[in-house]
Amino acid sequence: MCGIIGYLGYREAYPILINGLKKLEYRGYDSSGIAIFYEKGYSLCKTKGRVYDLEKKICLNKIKISGTTGIGHTRWATHGIPNDLNAHPHVSNSNNLIIIHNGIVENYYAIKIVLSKNGFTFKSKTDTEVLVNLIEFVKKENQLSLEEAVRISLNEIVGAYSIAVVDKSHPETIVIAKLGSPLALGINDKEFFIASDPISFIDYTKNALYLKDGEMAILKKGRELDLRKIGDNHKLNPIIEKLKINLKQIEKGKYKYFMLKEIYEQPKTILDTLRGRLLISTKGNEIICINGIESNKDVFINAKCITIVACGTSWHASLIGEYLLEELARIPVEVEYASEFRYRNPILDRRNVIIVISQSGETADTLAALKLAKKKGAFVFGICNVVGSSIARNVDAGVYTHAGPEIGVASTKSFTAQITVLILLALKIGKYRSVINELRYKNLCQELISIPEKVDFVLKTDNSIKKISKEYYNVNNFLYLGRGINFPVALEGALKLKEVSYIHAEGYPAAEMKHGPIALIDSNMPVIIIATKKGFYDKIVGNVQEIKARKGKIISIVNEGDVQVSMLSDHIIKIPIISEELSPLITVIPLQLLAYQIAYIRGENVDQPRNLAKSVTVE
Ligand code: GLU
Repeated sequence: MCGIIGYLGYREAYPILINGLKKLEYRGYDSSGIAIFYEKGYSLCKTKGRVYDLEKKICLNKIKISGTTGIGHTRWATHGIPNDLNAHPHVSNSNNLIIIHNGIVENYYAIKIVLSKNGFTFKSKTDTEVLVNLIEFVKKENQLSLEEAVRISLNEIVGAYSIAVVDKSHPETIVIAKLGSPLALGINDKEFFIASDPISFIDYTKNALYLKDGEMAILKKGRELDLRKIGDNHKLNPIIEKLKINLKQIEKGKYKYFMLKEIYEQPKTILDTLRGRLLISTKGNEIICINGIESNKDVFINAKCITIVACGTSWHASLIGEYLLEELARIPVEVEYASEFRYRNPILDRRNVIIVISQSGETADTLAALKLAKKKGAFVFGICNVVGSSIARNVDAGVYTHAGPEIGVASTKSFTAQITVLILLALKIGKYRSVINELRYKNLCQELISIPEKVDFVLKTDNSIKKISKEYYNVNNFLYLGRGINFPVALEGALKLKEVSYIHAEGYPAAEMKHGPIALIDSNMPVIIIATKKGFYDKIVGNVQEIKARKGKIISIVNEGDVQVSMLSDHIIKIPIISEELSPLITVIPLQLLAYQIAYIRGENVDQPRNLAKSVTVE
């Protein structure tokens, strides 16, 4: 996964590329580079490190940055370590062709051997350099135009890509193509903007074309756009959409980090997820509207089981979905890691419903799982945040979470938005299947409306969480425990801490503690325990006693008015009382804040943790 950017028009390309790359850094930030083209030549600069390192290098080396065609890249390495040589753009052996690439050329090694036999040499360890040389080879051997050489080469590629290629002798043309990795084209009078994510060109234009898998476009100065199928060169009609991104959503405002901003946004984002979906009429009738379910009512009524497929934080939301759907809709549910599901020949037919969940809608494994499930005849329903993403476009039906752009690499508001959608789904399907009692349905709908206010209340515990963080920011391990629907919340709390603070943390079902983790407990081990009144409270009290007896440090999430667990705890974080089914929306908030505060005190770059990228568009 990485960010690619390009410009072709009449303005100076450099500021457009640099500012665009900064907005794309959430996608990768281990190295970056640009190439700017001018009449029959180009200047190239690339470096290990962030976009500001690139700016510094350009400044220090007085690199020529004037030109109205340019491409740029911020990398998340797949092939070859992050260093200057492996950074993009990559240049072909003749020094004529320059490429940027997001994705993986899976058969790069076989191609590299063929190219080597034909005299090609390689400076980097990347698959991308192999691709640009393949294009050069095909072009020279067959005396082809750049676009035809790109097209024929891509037909030889196994893997995923979004690319932009320029021939330095023809800087008035950029060829772009996509398979598996995202690529958007911004279009104005006489200019084109190319980007992995349109947030990087939204300042300039709201007219965008999302390339579909297997499509390529030849862009020429003066706004000439030629859209084609990579497979058979068939000419296509470009469909230009109006982007609906609000710039405020992608600025940090008063917050030091996007992660904190996004945690604090949750009362609003949960409301946005509910908006138009949960309607309470003046007569007090509660109606849940989800088009994707309504138009496929029979599929959900007759489903023999549901499999939820996801990765990372979305996988934790899926586990919560399992509790919700089994409890409220009485359908058997399995939760699978997308990366495992896609490779183990799952047994599916048309009565299987697959729900795929992904914030970005671009997660490579989830997308592949979706395609596999569809091929096997299952009905696939998607839950994602990014409108128009690959997953959204490929599912049979789906629902957007409407949480707004999430920039912090560690997912927060998307998680609560996904849970909100899963609650709505479980209630709606439960109603269709006539398995949920009217009163329970009514009460849960009413309680859902009160969630944003309750999240707001929990956010006010931030000061006490800061105090706890100051006490524990230096420990090496944390244990997170929860039961029932709050067990996945314990997993998510541990994941958040690992991601942003690099402290080792494990999430466990509280009762499992006795089957191993209890051996780790001593006076240095902080244990976070979710102890809500309505969820197995007495059992949890027993677990807390066991930790106390071994001198573990207990940090508990308890309901207001709690006595028993509070008395045994070293620290307590109080949250409002809520039905167990909805409680993950509340219990996760202090865990997100704790992860953020600890990472902040440790001085980590919270929004861009080492080795991670926002959406994992490679396997
Ligand atoms: N496979 C390419 C590389 O390792 C691109 C990776 C990416 O998408 O950032 O350089």
